[in-house]
Amino acid sequence: MSDNLTEELSAFLKQVEQRTERHSGYPYNLSYDYSCLLDFFKFSLNNLGDPFVESNYGVNSRKFEQEVISFFAKLYKIAEDDSWGYVTSCGTEGNLYGIFMGREVYPDGILYSSEDSHYSVAKAARLFRIKHLTTRSQSNGEMEYEHFEELISENRNYPAIINLNIGTTMKGAIDNLDVVLDILERNNIKDYYIHCDAALSGAMLPFLQDAPQVNFNKPIGSVSVSGHKFIGSPLPCGVLLTRKAFLEKIETSIEYIGSKDTTILGSRNGHSPLILWYAIKTRGNEGLAEEAAFCIQNAQYLFQRLTLMNYPCLLNDFSNTVVFQKPSELLVKKWQLATQKNWAHMVVMQNIDKQKIDTFIDELGFEIGLSEGVNNGLRLIAS
Ligand SMILES: *Cc1c(COP(=O)(O)O)cnc(C)c1O
Repeated sequence: MSDNLTEELSAFLKQVEQRTERHSGYPYNLSYDYSCLLDFFKFSLNNLGDPFVESNYGVNSRKFEQEVISFFAKLYKIAEDDSWGYVTSCGTEGNLYGIFMGREVYPDGILYSSEDSHYSVAKAARLFRIKHLTTRSQSNGEMEYEHFEELISENRNYPAIINLNIGTTMKGAIDNLDVVLDILERNNIKDYYIHCDAALSGAMLPFLQDAPQVNFNKPIGSVSVSGHKFIGSPLPCGVLLTRKAFLEKIETSIEYIGSKDTTILGSRNGHSPLILWYAIKTRGNEGLAEEAAFCIQNAQYLFQRLTLMNYPCLLNDFSNTVVFQKPSELLVKKWQLATQKNWAHMVVMQNIDKQKIDTFIDELGFEIGLSEGVNNGLRLIAS
């Protein structure tokens, strides 16, 4: 490699390291070490086609993908025989899949989702030309159930395809599955398909004590979880899980690949399943549970510190997404905070410890003219 290229790459590496150090606005776990998988980057792992149907292309990681799916099937309480899923290229692909599945099951169904849903839900409606009705949200980001019932009862002659948020993007709010099921029953809607968008919280809630449990013991159709969020991965990825019975609606055999065309994309990156497999095997349920508890506790710590400063903020139960009034552009940029209108949030992931939170609070305190004593929230309140 020429000196120029080496220099350019090493400068870029430094920049990436620095930006990683301070990043806190998006729900990405940035602390992991997959360097023992480096040798596999010399190979073109491609799981094209169905993860459970061997393809003619032999350089794949299907075995590992199957184990990842089986891990999530256990977590989401569905028998392996009844479940099907695959490692997607991100949470969005899982949402597209779930909503597509809903439409294949109920071609004249109407898609319902709250206004706090991820933008990929509206995109799915556009891509698949599904009529889409949006409900208002409560101030904590949860669906406004009265409005949902109003829309459902006005359209009770149509099947319902529902996108349920299991942790909204901006506020980490969880839509209540039981309330939604009650509303469907009250309105005598028997044809419904519920897709759960659990991008971040989907890999946390199953490990948190007393948290609402959304799983296949209840009549849900599919779940989408991002792999690069709570679990963490250098390559964006995700997991989509659904019921095998629904799969028959869409599968077709393709001779050219020797597999089944059950996935949205054709070629599928075979490194992500390997990464997720390694993460699950090395951290296990216990490790993931500890990490989830760590994130929730640190989020509560950040929330307390903001509250003690009388700084407008919000934190939902079982969430690690701390929402607060948008600070200066300088802080937004420095900490790479995600913003929406007057609000910003910090998602307290494994790589955000109390020390980083303290530094952020110091900087915020300084900014709002409370430089003196910001390290002691009680003194602030007293003054
Ligand atoms: C991040 C997110 C998504 C999209 O996930 P990607 O992996 O970024 O495609 C979908 N829904 C919610 C609630 C999210 O927070």
